[in-house]
Amino acid sequence: MFSLKQLLKKHRKKYNELNKIKKIFIITLFLCVFSSSCISIIFFFKISIPHENNIFYKFLFDTFNLLFILVSFILLQWGKILVKDAYIILSCGIFLWGGSLFSNLYNDINILPVWFSLWVYNIFKTIGILLLLIGVFITIKKTNKRCDYFKLLATIDDLTELPNRRYFQEELRKYENKMLLFIMIDIDNFKKINDKYGHEEGDRILHSFGMVLLNYKNSNIFSARLGGDEFAAFIISNDKQKAIIFAEYLLNEIKNIMVKDEYHMTLSIGIACKFPFESNKIGLQRADKALYKAKGNNRNRFEWE
Ligand code: GH3
Ligand code: MG
Repeated sequence: MFSLKQLLKKHRKKYNELNKIKKIFIITLFLCVFSSSCISIIFFFKISIPHENNIFYKFLFDTFNLLFILVSFILLQWGKILVKDAYIILSCGIFLWGGSLFSNLYNDINILPVWFSLWVYNIFKTIGILLLLIGVFITIKKTNKRCDYFKLLATIDDLTELPNRRYFQEELRKYENKMLLFIMIDIDNFKKINDKYGHEEGDRILHSFGMVLLNYKNSNIFSARLGGDEFAAFIISNDKQKAIIFAEYLLNEIKNIMVKDEYHMTLSIGIACKFPFESNKIGLQRADKALYKAKGNNRNRFEWE
């Protein structure tokens, strides 16, 4: 359980973390709320109230509004807004709106000249709300854009531009009760490329092979890089011929990827089918077994399981 002391300590710590401008803004708005609250209380105890009988209630609501604005402003300062432009616009919007409410309170008791209260109230309020709307719009737009970017980072392998293992598994889950063909692909003797020509050459080959998979246009095939030199694909079909055509295409295309103009790479491929009543895990294990068979049978080939 939090004690009041702990709570105050926590908030003081948060307040100290804010920069000077934010502190000035908060203190100014806080003073507005405090002074308007005092005026409300003073007027409550006065017997005759100028102009309106219900002015106290108007004060009360205006004070509450100002309080809400202050709380929103503080939350905005502590909240972590990813979009800096939107944060500045939102802060100015709330601050102006708060200023308009403050001038409204003083307008009620005729402390300020009418021209001042009228113009300050209306202009501050209009610009404040407008800025808030713009700020919210920019926040939504840019946050959505950032979300898309983060999603891309989380699902796409940056070296090959192919979907990564997570995306592959996510996509596969959608077809748990379907007939699928699984294709496991592994580049042959890839370690030697790294050892002999360095990681950069290895990366280039992985990228080129990624392009081969990306360029194979078939809406029923989903390919991904599982990690290292291991790739996988699944075909939403029970037509084994489609898997054979795909495997032969890959075995041919890899031959165009030359290592330092000296020799070309080869692949080993394992293919397996999975029936609707079986789990995807079983299908993947089967394809993995077929891949080992291909490796065992001298590589540069595909095998079934
Ligand atoms: P095999 O024919 O049996 O598959 O032999 P292999 O040498 O290809 O063996 P393996 O598939 O186990 O080797 C994978 C190697 O891939 C090991 C690791 O050094 C390398 N590797 C993994 N990720 C990357 C990467 O992102 N870039 C590069 N350049 N190399 C990687
Ligand atoms: Mg390999």
